[in-house]
Amino acid sequence: MSFERILYRCFVIVISSAVIGCSPTQYMPQFNEATLEIKRNEIASQIERTPQDIQEEPDLVLSRIYSRLEPHAKTACLENGEKWLESSCSSWTLNVVDDENFNAYITPAGDITFHSEVFKYTKSDDEVAFILAHEMSHHILNHGMEDIVNSEIMGATTGLLSGILVGAIAAGLGVSDAVLDDVIEDAVEDGYASGREAGRLTYSVDQESEADRLGLKLINLAGYDELAARQVILFIGADSTELRSGQSSSHPSGPERLAAFDSYSNGTSSGQNSLIGCVSGDCVNGDGSYNWADGRKYVGHWMDDKVHGRGAYSLADGTTFVGQFKAGQISGQGVFESANGHKYVGEFQNSKRHGWGTYTWPDGKKYVGEFKDDEEHGEGSLTYPDGRIFRGQWANGKFLTQ
Ligand SMILES: [Zn+2]
Repeated sequence: MSFERILYRCFVIVISSAVIGCSPTQYMPQFNEATLEIKRNEIASQIERTPQDIQEEPDLVLSRIYSRLEPHAKTACLENGEKWLESSCSSWTLNVVDDENFNAYITPAGDITFHSEVFKYTKSDDEVAFILAHEMSHHILNHGMEDIVNSEIMGATTGLLSGILVGAIAAGLGVSDAVLDDVIEDAVEDGYASGREAGRLTYSVDQESEADRLGLKLINLAGYDELAARQVILFIGADSTELRSGQSSSHPSGPERLAAFDSYSNGTSSGQNSLIGCVSGDCVNGDGSYNWADGRKYVGHWMDDKVHGRGAYSLADGTTFVGQFKAGQISGQGVFESANGHKYVGEFQNSKRHGWGTYTWPDGKKYVGEFKDDEEHGEGSLTYPDGRIFRGQWANGKFLTQ
């Protein structure tokens, strides 16, 4: 029973930058454009990886990592309830095949395959551990099975549900796990051709994100480095730099996946502190990403050790600014969005609203006009959500004349 044609290529980056992958759903956490732009810039500014000679037998590397992850994965698997196969938490198998695509995948039966290319582009056990934990997470979370069932529900395939029913009946009759796995595998293979046609039988954006979250939890439990996991997400992200995973996306966009990863990462206590300082690129003269201990981040251009040129800046609460910087200040055109719904699009000087711009309040009220030293000043109009408009002159934030 070969699974080679079933490509759960959720963890793929094709070095030639062809796009293969997973279909979208709507449950990935949602992020605003500024946040996604920060992530995209960070992905773009990472140092490019070149393939390295494999130093250690990949099988050995994998089994060493597996032995650390396995107890935690098994616990998670049992907690998740074993929806489909009672045997599914007892063991996973590991294979390495020669293949020049950076990829790893797992079958619904729990057989994990790594392409040899993974070991040329990863830098540590910690990085490989995250990829392995991610694949195991797909299995633990029943994603393969969900997809088979979803395909049937969507009317994308025929015969699959009966395959699963046969499997369930066989299980009830006490047939061996091996036979049961074969039944399910048959059902998957049968469904593959039609499923592929309908764009299914690959993991969804939502499932990728869910597997990242559990994978992150597993490597934390096993004592692997969360920052290394993040580096893998960055690397993978270079393959798909659209801001969002669109309806026609074949796999998660890099910026969205990174943003989602960071949101999970912030939810755990460890690791985040290791991401302080210049985390990638050149933060003196050039393009670089810098994280402050209080959660502020900047991704963009630097000059003489100061933010300068185009960049994106965010606060821990989600407030963001994307635009022009000058000698350490926000200066020039930009877009400011606060976490609680205030938005300004326009000109800045010395990190204040200054010049022409549009300011929108969370309730929909909007001022369009001139600003000076962060206040409405000069010509402008204020529009209320109910349609009332006040046009005229403003001084120091106050309306003067109609
Ligand atoms: Zn995946």
